[in-house]
Amino acid sequence: MSEEIKTNAAPAAAPAAAARPERPARPFAKKRFESRRKVCKVCAEKIDNVDYKNFQFVKSFTMESGKILSRRITGTCAKHQRQITKAIKRDRNLAILPYSLPKK
Ligand SMILES: [Zn+2]
Repeated sequence: MSEEIKTNAAPAAAPAAAARPERPARPFAKKRFESRRKVCKVCAEKIDNVDYKNFQFVKSFTMESGKILSRRITGTCAKHQRQITKAIKRDRNLAILPYSLPKK
């Protein structure tokens, strides 16, 4: 008796799974964005130390308003982000870069 139930139960489960119609995972799914690898600009240019005197380069890591851009946005590595922030703050103190600029 118990053996009969076992044999019945096993085949019954298999067709149920097979009967389910195959359907594409996401018919209307589109690629929302192309993933682009961010590279640290400082590493790419092989600058071993970020210099505050190279303010044109340092300035490229600030917003128009004078804010420091985050690592998440620029893709710099942690080590160089630390050097950049230090350089920006030094430049601000020397009045090379602005602390802030008014919004338009
Ligand atoms: Zn780097």
